Amino acid sequence: MDATMKAALKTATGEFDVTEVETPKIPHPDWVLARIRVAGICGTDLRHWKKAEPEFEHHIMGHEMAGEVVEVGPEVTSVKPGDRVVIETVLGDGTCDWCRVQQYNLCPNLYPVRMETVSRAFAKYVIGPAEKFHVLPDHVSFEEATLLDTFSVGLHAIQLSGIRLNDKVAVIGAGPIGLGQLQLAKISGADVIVTDVIDSALELALSLGLMRW
Ligand SMILES: [Zn+2]
Repeated sequence: MDATMKAALKTATGEFDVTEVETPKIPHPDWVLARIRVAGICGTDLRHWKKAEPEFEHHIMGHEMAGEVVEVGPEVTSVKPGDRVVIETVLGDGTCDWCRVQQYNLCPNLYPVRMETVSRAFAKYVIGPAEKFHVLPDHVSFEEATLLDTFSVGLHAIQLSGIRLNDKVAVIGAGPIGLGQLQLAKISGADVIVTDVIDSALELALSLGLMRW
């Protein structure tokens, strides 16, 4: 393992400097180090682009990714070096009331913790607890796996909605989440309408099987 790795660090003006930084090391026996193969660009990343944010200066950004396990701590049994994985990038401090009931997305320390560990996709390597690394079936590509973060948002909405066959669903906005929502609503048996102001997004919605009205 090289002592340094390439990473894209956020600059004072909100762009990126691709530079060499220290390679992270496995800090606990139940943690994993993986090589990132594909990183997605989230709508959130776009909101941070070219924006001066002193709190993120010199930080590695990005939180949609898939890769290959390189090294595991001695207590890790769920993944092994060489495994293809999708990496969940929501990680709390593990000690607060929210973390203890598995609602770590609400942890008050979420951002400081995740941004120092799993939420650093625009780099060569990433570390995190083994439970954040999920093995991919062979037929799921790294590119597809990188979209699971956004797809899970739609899946959660579908589960909350109680959707049924022949329900009518309107998806407002054909971005990555809306397009995922479209596909999930369709396989749930709903009739779906998608609205957007961007033609290319609507074309993509049509290519995913939406009927033109
Ligand atoms: Zn917490």
